[in-house]
Amino acid sequence: MAEPGSFADRVKQQADIVRVVGEYVRLKKSGQNYSGLCPFHSEKTPSFAVHPVKQIYHCFGCGVGGDVFKFVMEMEKCTFPESIRIVAEKCGIAVPAPRERSPEERRENQLRTALVEMHQAAAVFFDRQLEATPEGKAARAYLEDRGLDKETIARFGLGYAPSGGDALLRAFRAKYAEKLLGASGLFSTDASGRLYDRFRRRIMFPIANEAGKVVAFGGRSLGDDMPKYLNSSETPIYSKSAVLYHLDKAKEALRQRDFAILVEGYMDTIGVARAGHMNVIASCGTSLTETQAKLLGRFTRRVVVNYDPDSAGQAATERSLTLLLEQEFDVRVLQLPGGKDPDSFIKAEGAEKYGKLLGQSPAYLDYLIARARQTDLTSGEGKLRAVNFLMPYIQRIPNRLLRSEWATKIAEQLRVEEPVLRESLKRAAAERRSNVQTNPELVARAGKPAERRLVQLLIESDDLRQRLAEEIRAEELHRGLETERVLAALVEMILSGGRPDPAELGGNLEDRDRRLLFEIAFESGGATSWEEAESCLAALRRGRLDAELAALQKEIEAQAASKSPESSEALRGLLQRKQELTKLSQRL
Ligand SMILES: [Zn+2]
Repeated sequence: MAEPGSFADRVKQQADIVRVVGEYVRLKKSGQNYSGLCPFHSEKTPSFAVHPVKQIYHCFGCGVGGDVFKFVMEMEKCTFPESIRIVAEKCGIAVPAPRERSPEERRENQLRTALVEMHQAAAVFFDRQLEATPEGKAARAYLEDRGLDKETIARFGLGYAPSGGDALLRAFRAKYAEKLLGASGLFSTDASGRLYDRFRRRIMFPIANEAGKVVAFGGRSLGDDMPKYLNSSETPIYSKSAVLYHLDKAKEALRQRDFAILVEGYMDTIGVARAGHMNVIASCGTSLTETQAKLLGRFTRRVVVNYDPDSAGQAATERSLTLLLEQEFDVRVLQLPGGKDPDSFIKAEGAEKYGKLLGQSPAYLDYLIARARQTDLTSGEGKLRAVNFLMPYIQRIPNRLLRSEWATKIAEQLRVEEPVLRESLKRAAAERRSNVQTNPELVARAGKPAERRLVQLLIESDDLRQRLAEEIRAEELHRGLETERVLAALVEMILSGGRPDPAELGGNLEDRDRRLLFEIAFESGGATSWEEAESCLAALRRGRLDAELAALQKEIEAQAASKSPESSEALRGLLQRKQELTKLSQRL
């Protein structure tokens, strides 16, 4: 993909795939490789590997793999040229002046840049309102009343949108084109097409993207205006379902503490963060989306959900919990006494008490079992109801082993003795409903050891490579093997004078063969010698002879059975050939 001498090639030479992937996946060194949880499929035990020398990644679970650019393209959903720039920036490689982009691309980029700048200006505007206007002062009093001091207001960038309906519009009209204002998500249009301020008489919470740039606002009404919470509309820089509130500030704590506290809204986030738990985030919508879960999964796979599960939004809460369960997060539930939300609980009871309860949060299913136990379990009918309540949750756990563990646990906890109920629990654990499992046809261990070792020698051994490639080609030893296309591509590359680079080869192979190549590339090699190479070649020759002998034997039996005059002539020829082959195979 990368032309020699091109900028892409230079980036590729200098880029460190471990460092780039490490920004998305928590990697641990294991042997000569690094491994972690695959960001492309849900899993609990790491099957995702990065090879620092060969500069490739490969998932032994779902089969994805490629070089550093492919990884960034998949993660960022961007094009190849964009991935080069991203990798260069991440690795501190100077990027040459931007090439001429297509007109639309340039327009789109300009729009995004202008919108980000406009949001920065809007944050400053809302902040000043809080500071400098009588109306804003009333808003500040309201915030102070809720325990938000100056420092907190500054730290979270809170502001105020005045009630007039055109304050922001008047401030921005001189600076920005009407069309840009219309596209910003900060204004609405009336029936006659005129713009007016979307946010009026609201406390403003800036919403930043992962990089910390303000891309939208959430506004909480000060009076009785509905809705109580209002967000910016969707724009080219903001998609509600793809942003997690406070993630930009929580990133480091998420990685360090390796769990997230998921709360409902802005005030809860601020309250929990002020109590010393920076690893707090909010979905700020109805329920958590899959995109948000994936985003979070890049930082941690453990979540304590601190919603109020019995609130009006219970359906949404359950959806979030279920989604996290399906995405194989380790989910715990923190339910605060008295049905309090985190913000008011911390205010009433203190940070220390909150921290203590946080540490005791039960696993989601334990929490559900406790709920099920509240129903009357003395009758068989009551137990049936409880089991039916729990069944759908069990069926959503992707891991079969975990499902059956939970089924056993439920049977014990609910004292389910009845064989019928036990049976249906067992069935629920065996089946899995309402989800697609990403389980591709695995190529695991395709190819015999000798083939795999040859592929490895061709990639790794500078001394043996040339001679091996020549012998394989001369005798066409790769024909009919499971690694046939992999070997053919390697031999071709070597004999045409190239260095066999797995990443580059992989780009030209079919998916199955690429997977096979990468799997082998990740096996650790050890010392090499020509004797070993020779013994691998011999194994292939023997394999071929055995196959030929087996085919011959079949033909001999067929001819012997037919008993026609011609067949005895043919049979003699076949038997002679068999003798030759047998002799040959004895010499190998
Ligand atoms: Zn995977």
